[in-house]
Amino acid sequence: MKFVYILICFVFLIFGCGPRNKKNIPTEDHAIVPGVADSTYIYNINIDSLFVLHETIRNGESVGIILNKHNISFSDIDKVARLSKQIFDLRDVKAGGDYSLIFQDSTKSSLLYFIYEINKVDFLVAKMKDTIDVFRGAKPLVIKEKTGSGIIESSLWYAMEKSNLSAKLVNVLADEIYPWTIDFFRLNSGDKFKVIYDAKYVDGEFIGIGKVHATLFHSNGEDYYAMAFNEVGGFEDYFDENGNNLRKFFLKAPVSFTRISSRFTNKRKHPVTGRWKGHFGTDFAAPIGTPIYSTADGIVTEVSYTKYNGYYVKIRHNSTYTTQYLHMDKSSKKLWSKKGIKKGKRVRQGVDIIGYVGKSGQATGPHVCYRFWKNGKQVDPFKTSLPPSTPIKKEKREDFESKKLILMKKLNAISYPDEYQIIDSQNTVSMINY
Ligand SMILES: [Zn+2]
Repeated sequence: MKFVYILICFVFLIFGCGPRNKKNIPTEDHAIVPGVADSTYIYNINIDSLFVLHETIRNGESVGIILNKHNISFSDIDKVARLSKQIFDLRDVKAGGDYSLIFQDSTKSSLLYFIYEINKVDFLVAKMKDTIDVFRGAKPLVIKEKTGSGIIESSLWYAMEKSNLSAKLVNVLADEIYPWTIDFFRLNSGDKFKVIYDAKYVDGEFIGIGKVHATLFHSNGEDYYAMAFNEVGGFEDYFDENGNNLRKFFLKAPVSFTRISSRFTNKRKHPVTGRWKGHFGTDFAAPIGTPIYSTADGIVTEVSYTKYNGYYVKIRHNSTYTTQYLHMDKSSKKLWSKKGIKKGKRVRQGVDIIGYVGKSGQATGPHVCYRFWKNGKQVDPFKTSLPPSTPIKKEKREDFESKKLILMKKLNAISYPDEYQIIDSQNTVSMINY
């Protein structure tokens, strides 16, 4: 068995000056600053002449204990707890979580507000004076356009932390932009790419990547451009330099970064029964729990369990095509009830998770058996001609051409990293999280 590991190494080139000073919210061209960005305001509260205390929840501490320490009655604490439930259940606060207390003055005798930071952006405010009230707020989000480039050396997908930014960017490239054009199972050492993307900041701190505007992937000696363009109201797709839509009717695989462990064949020895019979599917090996996506938009026709198939989902895409995903993990059942994955449910290509990789039914190891029907007959999707993509519409051509020129100019201005200065993926986060 041959595993091909590709280690994606990034070297990020930062153009323009980032928000180094935490209090200073940049107002450059690309910066979008919704909400109040004034130092007399925090959490949208005017704190002029008030006393503010920033704290973290300690082990064994609850919001009740904290509020009670500051002379809040149990009936008021109960009120806060009840009102908060719609926004965030304060019983779920964790040790290490950030909160703030705003007092009338430095004597700390009169607590006006309790604020809990739900995440890096959202927070909950409990107003403690006069009438008790609870509301939700969000910190101003700053979006800055960034550029980057990287060289691929070898692959180690499973070792990449999910929280790792480089992994997130790789996901966008592999799953959203290039799943139809580049075979991410077979990247070559030396393949390289450039990217223009949005970086999101809160209080000057990097919190994640936003939209990817354009990319150039150089693989096997070929250049693959991808430019985001809004063709149909509000829906963006990626197009190449000739205006061809990179999105195709079907994804190549229902799971990211796996390997094909068994191909479609009319005759093979069954791994469990040992008998020779056809394998009318393509097996993608992946760790248990890996999300499975529908390879095309469609409507769920079956969500079930059988002795051989295990937990599975079947999806009808149109009058010609149907696909099925077998051997899902039992945890998929929870997802099905939570997300309403049942007969009649509409699912989107590569967006809606329909189950998790498992080894239920007759399977030796964790994988998803992907079955494909064309006009009612099971076929090998890798050996079947599939519906093509539609290019930019005539009436949008001019608009696309002008946008394309700007993006390609920007891409061409980015330099590839020096091949002798490859930085391993472990350094990636700190490199980008400057
Ligand atoms: Zn199979």
